[in-house]
Amino acid sequence: MEWRGKRVLVTGAGKGIGRATAIKLGHRGATVIAVTRSKDDLRTLAAEIDCQQVCVDVADGDALRTAVSSALPVDMLVNCAGTTVLSSFIDTDPEEFDRVISVNTKAPVIIGQIVVRDWLRRGVRGSIVNVSSDAARRAVADHTVYCASKAALDAVTRVMALELGPSGIRVNSVNPTVTMTPMGVLAWSDPAKADPVRARIPLGRFLEPDEIAEAILFLLSDEASMINGVSLAVDGGLAIT
Ligand code: NDP
Repeated sequence: MEWRGKRVLVTGAGKGIGRATAIKLGHRGATVIAVTRSKDDLRTLAAEIDCQQVCVDVADGDALRTAVSSALPVDMLVNCAGTTVLSSFIDTDPEEFDRVISVNTKAPVIIGQIVVRDWLRRGVRGSIVNVSSDAARRAVADHTVYCASKAALDAVTRVMALELGPSGIRVNSVNPTVTMTPMGVLAWSDPAKADPVRARIPLGRFLEPDEIAEAILFLLSDEASMINGVSLAVDGGLAIT
């Protein structure tokens, strides 16, 4: 894949998986439009790679629409910004439910609509990767909203792939297992919770941000030209257990 000349919008580019993806893209010659809500993260990222900085809270629909519209045109999109709340089903606060869904599911829809409308207008055969989770397909205790938000994101991914495929636009998701980013540390630091999950992974370890970033770049790229509508497990084999 020739990344030079490609403009790739990456949300959640400040930390973790989004940052690893942005850095890999930048090192391979792409221009990254880095979206996150921390100015400090954007500043340090810009010291590492050539990127356009977009500071916005993706849960704020109006601000998001303005920010993404003014960042166009882009050739590819990675929806990676994500959040969680640790709470049992019985204690889940409906307002927290809305907040997590806004970031994990609704923001990718809003951004996707803006980007795809522009592609359809210009006849661009673009590619989108939504960063979902292994939690989209299994029950994880204290992750009610998170599981729901990622299952919904996979469903959105499939419908986008179905409807946009005829225009040459591909849409896929990656579904990582535990990755020790700031979010991973928040949810998986307790060995009593983490060890049994790690033990079920055939490859016997958690994921590194660079490993998921590599899968994202592959799905974005022309090398994946016939892959559309998949939810790609990047989990050392956890999905088959
Ligand atoms: P991190 O918390 O390490 O990074 C998330 C990034 O998204 C941060 O830069 C964060 O900014 C940004 N972000 C979060 N909320 C918003 C918001 N409302 N507006 C703008 N930016 C926002 O998470 P990960 O890298 O671990 O997660 C990336 C994606 O991967 C998420 O979608 C997550 O659900 C998914 N995932 C993660 C797994 C893991 O174990 N880590 C496993 C499976 C999937 P800030 O720090 O300022 O909030």
